[in-house]
Amino acid sequence: MNNKLIIAGPCTFGSYEEIYEIAKELKNRGIEYLRAGTFKMRTSPDSFQGLREEGLEMLLKIKEELGLKIVTELTSIEQVRKYGSKIDIIQIGTRNMYNYELLKEVGKLNTPVILKRGLSATYNEWINAAEYIKREGNTNIILCERGIRGYSNETRNVLDLQAIPYIHKNTNYKIIVDPSHASGHAYMVEDMSKASIAANCDGLLIETHIRPEESLCDSEETIDLETLDRIINYIKEN
Ligand code: PEP
Ligand code: MN
Repeated sequence: MNNKLIIAGPCTFGSYEEIYEIAKELKNRGIEYLRAGTFKMRTSPDSFQGLREEGLEMLLKIKEELGLKIVTELTSIEQVRKYGSKIDIIQIGTRNMYNYELLKEVGKLNTPVILKRGLSATYNEWINAAEYIKREGNTNIILCERGIRGYSNETRNVLDLQAIPYIHKNTNYKIIVDPSHASGHAYMVEDMSKASIAANCDGLLIETHIRPEESLCDSEETIDLETLDRIINYIKEN
C-alpha cells in the first residue's frame, strides 16, 4: 500500500472463528499481513496468556486458507526453532529486545524480523539489539517504534516520532510504528498513524478487531474497521 508495510489484527484471539472473521475483513481491505499474538507477554500472569501453540496452528491454517501473511510474536528459542520458518514475519516484543540469546536464534533464520523497541531503550541499545540478529546472518530486520515509557498515567507510553528520522539517517533499517501500544487509546490511533506517515515511517502495525470491545487483550487501544478504513485511505492519498 503506497510502499508502506501495513500490518493489522487483534492483540490476541480466543477462537478460530474469531480470528478467521477478522482475517477475512482485513483481506477484503487489501491488507496483506495479519498480526495476532498467541504467545502473549502479559504484565500479569493472571491475564489471558494466549492460545499458545494451538493458536499458532490456527494462524498457519488461516495463512493457507486465505493466503494472508502471518506476523506473530515468538518468545522462546524453542518457538523460534519450531515456528520461525513457517510464519512470514517474526515479532520480537518490547520485553524481549534485550534477550540476546533469543535474538541470536532469530538471526539464524531468513524470516524477516520486527524488532520492537524496549520499554526504555535508547536508540543505541535498540540498534545494537538488531546487530545481534544481523551478526548471525539475518539482515531482514524491521525496527518498530511502539512508544517508550513516560511519566504520564493518561497514556500508556509516549510515541517517539523522532525515532523515524534518526533510524533513517543513521541505519539502513526500515522503521514501522505501532501507535496502539504507544498511546493505549483507540481514539488516538488514527491521528498518530497519520503523524507517523507524515514523518515518513515505512509502515504501521495496528491493533484492529471487528468488535474491539470484545478483544481479549488491549481492547482499549484496539481500533474498529471504520477507523482502519480511514487510515488506509489516508495512506493511499499521501
Ligand atoms: C503486542 O504487540 O501485542 C505487544 C505485546 O507489544 P509490545 O511488545 O510492544 O508490548
Ligand atoms: Mn497488544
